[in-house]
Amino acid sequence: MSTPDLVIVGSGFFGLTLAERCATELDLRVLVLERRYHLGGNAYSEKDPETGIEVHKYGTHLFHTSNERVWEYVNRFTDFTAYQHRVFGKYQGQVYSLPMNLGLINQFFGRAFTPDEARALIAEQSSEIATEDATNLEEKAISLIGRPLYEAFIKGYTAKQWQTDPTELSPDIITRLPVRYTFDNRYFNDTHEGLPVDGYTAWLERMADHPNIEVRLDTDFFDVADEYKGTVPIVYTGPVDEYFDHREGRLSWRTVDLEAETLDVDDYQGTGVVNANDQDVPWTRVLEFKHLHPERTHLPGKTIVVHEYSRFAEDDDEPYYPTNTAEDRAKLLKYRELAKKEPLVLFGGRLGTYKYLDMHMAIGSALSMFDNKLKPYFSDGAAWA
Ligand code: FAD
Repeated sequence: MSTPDLVIVGSGFFGLTLAERCATELDLRVLVLERRYHLGGNAYSEKDPETGIEVHKYGTHLFHTSNERVWEYVNRFTDFTAYQHRVFGKYQGQVYSLPMNLGLINQFFGRAFTPDEARALIAEQSSEIATEDATNLEEKAISLIGRPLYEAFIKGYTAKQWQTDPTELSPDIITRLPVRYTFDNRYFNDTHEGLPVDGYTAWLERMADHPNIEVRLDTDFFDVADEYKGTVPIVYTGPVDEYFDHREGRLSWRTVDLEAETLDVDDYQGTGVVNANDQDVPWTRVLEFKHLHPERTHLPGKTIVVHEYSRFAEDDDEPYYPTNTAEDRAKLLKYRELAKKEPLVLFGGRLGTYKYLDMHMAIGSALSMFDNKLKPYFSDGAAWA
């Protein structure tokens, strides 16, 4: 491509949604720069050649949304299966159905509570501490769900996620801990849910499949920035602190280590995700991808299992979840000020805004950026940003 009309840094859902909209609706020539060897950002998946199982390279990705505009948009590129996500949690040799619901409460306390009885029990157990008096995450959780459920289902898991004892964590990390007084154990409450019928990568490739879009893989924006900065409009979806050379300090992230293995069993755990709630079990979750697609035929007698470990990200690790401490928020404000002043560059996506975004949120926010910033600039001659 000779000089593009727009450069997009990053080919995740945010970047590809904007590329697709600008190419299709505004007929712009869009160059997407991607430093990984593949497109798609963290939603990328690949089929294991031996077993045919679709492996989500950066952890399980479940699509769900209640945003009708996003649902209509994504259905232009893929059909969805009827998959409904459910998560189970292991604690002291038993398997419970999450999120916390009447089934879990009955099993945990060895009783057959009615919804009202269970509600009364949790109200009584959580009265130990008033929520407004909580000074750390442990106290806050106890004030919301009581000590027994906290110790079984929150304490160990949270300590592993944050590598920190919950008594040392800020109460602000949790706002609510929903308990359902029904047997409903669907993980998501959204109107629409499912997995792309022929996989995430086929979906992502269809979004980029336009004669006006070039996706240049293995290309780090910072190696070619001089060619475009200040002359071609840029949407940057990489880490905002990296763009500014970390001059206000690094924003902190949690990352996950994913240890995958192929096992000679047909079915390892009977479901896609099992949390490890015991603190002395080092991983946080076990993923078994074949259960995400019960409608597919896989090689019998084999499965792929991933043990997921959570930790703070070091400089070269993949940034996954913003840690979002008070210090991070102060740095972010400074980066936002710098971002506003950067000529011809918009910042977006989860890394560019330092916000955890589900896929539907990344797509929704890209559609808004298209409506509110790019379309007015390119078609109506409005000022940039
Ligand atoms: P990304 O997907 O991160 O894409 C950004 C891209 O920019 C990357 O490909 C990166 O390589 C590229 N890039 C960065 N810097 C540069 C540079 N300098 N030059 C060139 N390229 C660059 N969402 C759900 O809806 N459901 C789920 O179940 C779910 N599970 C998740 C599990 C995990 C472990 C994680 C981390 C996220 C999960 N998400 C899930 C969120 C989902 O991955 C995000 O919504 C999505 O990744 C956001 O898209 P994005 O385009 O903003 O960012």
